Amino acid sequence: MEELDFAGCACTGGTLQRFVQPVIMGLLAQGPQHGYALLQGLRALPLWGGAAPDQTGVYRLLKSMEGRGLLHAEEEEGRTTGRRRYALTERGRACLAQWEATLEDYRRTLDATLALVREANPMDRAFIRLVERVAQTSLAGRIPAAADLEALLAVPAVSAEAAFLGRRARDMARRTAGNRGRVWSAIGVDCRPCSMNCGFCSFGEKWGLVREPQEWSAARIVDTARRFVAQGAHWVTLRTTEHYPPEKLRDLVRLLRREVPGDYRVVVNTGELAPADAAALAAAGANVVYHTLRLGEGKTTGFKVATRLDTLAAVRDSSLDLAHLVEPVGPEHADAEIVAVLLTALRHGARLCGVMARVNVPGTPCGDRAGTGPDAELAPERLAQIAAVTRLAGGVQTPDICVHPPTLQALHWGANVLVVETGAVPRDVAESDADWRAFGVEDALSLLLEAGYAVGGA
Ligand code: SF4
Repeated sequence: MEELDFAGCACTGGTLQRFVQPVIMGLLAQGPQHGYALLQGLRALPLWGGAAPDQTGVYRLLKSMEGRGLLHAEEEEGRTTGRRRYALTERGRACLAQWEATLEDYRRTLDATLALVREANPMDRAFIRLVERVAQTSLAGRIPAAADLEALLAVPAVSAEAAFLGRRARDMARRTAGNRGRVWSAIGVDCRPCSMNCGFCSFGEKWGLVREPQEWSAARIVDTARRFVAQGAHWVTLRTTEHYPPEKLRDLVRLLRREVPGDYRVVVNTGELAPADAAALAAAGANVVYHTLRLGEGKTTGFKVATRLDTLAAVRDSSLDLAHLVEPVGPEHADAEIVAVLLTALRHGARLCGVMARVNVPGTPCGDRAGTGPDAELAPERLAQIAAVTRLAGGVQTPDICVHPPTLQALHWGANVLVVETGAVPRDVAESDADWRAFGVEDALSLLLEAGYAVGGA
């Protein structure tokens, strides 16, 4: 099935910024302003969806408008930095009046075009209202109703409704994530035959895929974390198996904090935690815990649901942030199951959410039952649809929405976080020094840029 990719197409919008000239003149009609104040005024308007306007482009436009006599700029007296103050000229006021007539014409034309498109478009109007209801609920800081989220997932992933959902989710990413793309890096610290025997994990001892315990040295972990941070990763995750000693993990966190300078957050992805464990990890320098109630928990995993929920509650009640994806999703998972896990994440205060597709590792029960290949794994369109629903459901609570494995469509539909991993990966049978599937931080940053996100900086 063809992946829907409307990158760069006018149907995804982004052309409103062409109206920046009348907006600047409208702001200056209220009185002269400095360039910085103008930029702030522009940012507050809906043209950029809450993101910062392109500063260089705005100053270039101001210069061009000055050249055409639409505005007048003066250097501020008594300053050496050349701060300029802009005022509208008489010619600018006349131009602004002309813009008013032109915009009225545009509006009439747009209304007629919209009516035509609506008539030709079979999209259910009730679906548009549903999307808006979910968006407004989460933007107000409330958790949307399960039935509404299930209805969003119930439309075909390749449909006008799903495309509308994706578009609205991308709009929300501009607003709640400040249009910033980020990279989540993960280091698989150890792998060993694990008695919990989760059906999708290559480490399960019953599957016999991992026979000998392996563990990275502290020096190797520090070197890798330095590399990830230098390349631009925002999170560094220490991922361990279920029975990794907690005191050893705390030592590793302290070591990272001591040896790896930089503006990044330390994540631990480990076994079950009691409140005291969470507090001790925070004291050691950790910021985030990755922990989830997985799809099929208690059936395809060796855990009791209550045990997983206890850990989620311990993290929620600590000073640590919770990161919780909906995972591992296969094509067989029903909308209601997906929504139940998503709501578990939101009700436990997850600050990062999103979706991870299951990789069918041959030799594991999931791999053997479902097989491999495109029909046995989640379609990229469905992955993007779930990413869009997590974005809409998370609202202001979850500014970061992750998709794994990475797809451009999911980024265009609201996800803003990509994962880069190395070492032991439970979706593979051999640990490695290389980045998983040769997807590194630079690849992630390029893909985020391609989807229109800003990367780098705080
Ligand atoms: S997912 Fe974690 S707990 Fe389950 S088998 Fe793998 S390592 Fe063990």
